[in-house]
Amino acid sequence: MNIYRDLDVDPIINACGAVTRLGGAPMPGTVLDAFCEAAHGWVPLDQLQAAASRKIAAATGTEAGLVTSGSAGASTLGTAAILAGHDLGRMERLPQCAGFPHEIIIAREQRSGYDHAIRATGAKLVEVGFNEIVSNAGARRTETWEYEAAVTGETAGIAYVYSETSQPSLESVIAMAHRRKLPVLVDAAGELPPKKNLAAIAGLGADLVTFSGGKAIRGPQSTGILCGRRELISSAALQMLDMDDHFELWDPPPDLIDRSQLVGHPRHGIGRSLKVSKEEIIALLTALAKFSSDGYAEEREQAYSMLQTIQNILSEAPVECRLIDFPDQERWPLLEVTLSPALAPHALDMCRSLRDGKPPIYVDHTRVQEGIMGINPLCLDATQAETLGSRFLEELHTLKS
Ligand SMILES: *Cc1c(COP(=O)(O)O)cnc(C)c1O
Repeated sequence: MNIYRDLDVDPIINACGAVTRLGGAPMPGTVLDAFCEAAHGWVPLDQLQAAASRKIAAATGTEAGLVTSGSAGASTLGTAAILAGHDLGRMERLPQCAGFPHEIIIAREQRSGYDHAIRATGAKLVEVGFNEIVSNAGARRTETWEYEAAVTGETAGIAYVYSETSQPSLESVIAMAHRRKLPVLVDAAGELPPKKNLAAIAGLGADLVTFSGGKAIRGPQSTGILCGRRELISSAALQMLDMDDHFELWDPPPDLIDRSQLVGHPRHGIGRSLKVSKEEIIALLTALAKFSSDGYAEEREQAYSMLQTIQNILSEAPVECRLIDFPDQERWPLLEVTLSPALAPHALDMCRSLRDGKPPIYVDHTRVQEGIMGINPLCLDATQAETLGSRFLEELHTLKS
């Protein structure tokens, strides 16, 4: 790993999985090979995105798709498409939205730092519902009527963050939105696996769906997918692609960009700063094909045995290990380590010293306040799993003494 050491950056043991701040998911060899091969040729990016669109459409059961700069980039582009459509003036003005509908309705409980990607277009988020359960002041979640009650002439669309437990159901939100002729943009960045979600979410009628390319799909960390209705994807593509051409010469593939809808040649849109390279597009498509055909099944077994190794090393330690496997056998197993009640208040210190050691070890700290640390095997190899286990044990001894 000298390429990093030469820069005085220490490679770490990443037990957090495909998180962006630690470098994302491991790309398989075939994906890396495809990336390198793509570097040896030049193609018009609109033609390449049109080819990608066909592949993504086939994998997701949608009309069209785009390779984007992450799921966050897809959210920005999807929102830009909803706001501007094929109106060149609006495309040019974003993120200035005065004079046209630019409110996006979202459930208060679905707000997160990621919706900055929606707001970056100039869209104004209008929150509905409450966070009653979290605030310990009620029992109900957001309801569909609350979205509808917020619809005004300024409403441009609905944003929905999908998960297995999202409320109200996506179906009911879509039914209401379509009754009011509003598009629904769904953030499903991390909702793979299960593989079936690739098509199932759009299958519910969502107009646009976003996925991360650098999580379970294991394409380049910087990639994502926007898929859905052709018209919207066309607008998104126009606002992302480099537009430095002459209208008379420009000949975009009609299944990606409907030139007949344009009164002239757009300038660079708001998504021009979210560009992806030819290599990234090819690598993402290669990873998507592998993910779709269950190319990662074998590694899932190895992941399980790495977690067992760690569990064995910790068998005598003052912790409780829970190896979580998923019945659908698609999601990767996880190891949850709960410190004994005496040690639990020091869990943050333990995370800190794991990070400060050599090599630095990053465990999942999502539930550290409860004395729980997670170990995600996605980015581990067998040697690292053993190192992690024994370092964990050492740190526990230090903590006890
Ligand atoms: C990971 C994630 C994102 C961002 O995805 P990128 O591909 O890193 O841009 C957005 N929304 C949610 C819910 C996520 O989990």
